[in-house]
Amino acid sequence: MAETVTNWAGNITYAAKELHRPHSLNALRNLVAGSSRVRVLGSGHSFNAIAEPGADGVLLSLDALAPEIDVDTTARTVRVGGGVRYAELARVVHRHGLALGNMASLPHISVAGSVATGTHGSGVGNGPLASSVRAVEIVGADGSLSRFTRDMANRFGGVVTSLGALGVVVALTLDLEPAYEVEQHVFTEMPLEGLDQATFETVMSAAYSVSLFTDWRAPGFRQVWLKRRTDQPLPDFPGRPRRRRRCTRCRACRR
Ligand SMILES: Cc1cc2nc3c(=O)[nH]c(=O)nc-3n(C[C@H](O)[C@H](O)[C@H](O)COP(=O)(O)OP(=O)(O)OC[C@H]3O[C@@H](n4cnc5c(N)ncnc54)[C@H](O)[C@@H]3O)c2cc1C
Repeated sequence: MAETVTNWAGNITYAAKELHRPHSLNALRNLVAGSSRVRVLGSGHSFNAIAEPGADGVLLSLDALAPEIDVDTTARTVRVGGGVRYAELARVVHRHGLALGNMASLPHISVAGSVATGTHGSGVGNGPLASSVRAVEIVGADGSLSRFTRDMANRFGGVVTSLGALGVVVALTLDLEPAYEVEQHVFTEMPLEGLDQATFETVMSAAYSVSLFTDWRAPGFRQVWLKRRTDQPLPDFPGRPRRRRRCTRCRACRR
């Protein structure tokens, strides 16, 4: 019977012949090898139906696999299963005094889906989430398991940001760094006036992560959010608006 799965917002429907949630790597490999068309559904947060296999295909969820998170404190890396999400990963690595250099803006987004789609954070000094990937383990169309590492140089980027087209990513190894604290400063009412390209770049580079919010009602930004790593100074910038509040380690303010 045809399965219909919708995303979190209910605005995208993924058509599929069957939805499977394998409980083991072997079951997953057999399923892939025995299917003619398979797509993996991560957390379903892409703005389109890229994860849809089509009415004759198999939609695969990795939710039922054990959520592997293995931290190597010596190498400062973590190996994560293909269904793991950023929030669960961040908690585990933090317990080891380590952190990811950058994370998705939403905590419940899957790591594998984020790196497969080239998802970025904000902050000009941070690479996209895929840049922390050191190794990828993929189950290919014939059910075989392959491991690709960063030392394959120029071909590795295509393996990491594959849009799910190369196979099922069952594990990723990511770089870690020593844990750090982030505090958020919120400024209000930054006018567009005087915001030329150079100033814009200065604002966007002013902190570890920068977000500008407009309500589209008047030219300018209603709020400017600067997230600063507490081991780095908060730089000044031309036209810096009035400071409104300081929000330290606020988990609700992750964007
Ligand atoms: C409210 C909101 C805010 C967002 N903010 C940002 C943002 O700040 N920056 C940004 O860049 N994006 C943002 N996005 C987009 C979104 O983050 C990404 O498209 C999404 O993270 C991709 O991850 P996913 O697990 O949800 O992937 P899905 O949408 O489930 O899948 C995306 C692709 O990845 C493949 N895939 C997923 N898991 C695997 C796997 N294990 N093996 C092989 N292929 C796999 C799928 O088959 C599909 O092709 C936002 C989305 C929303 C809804």
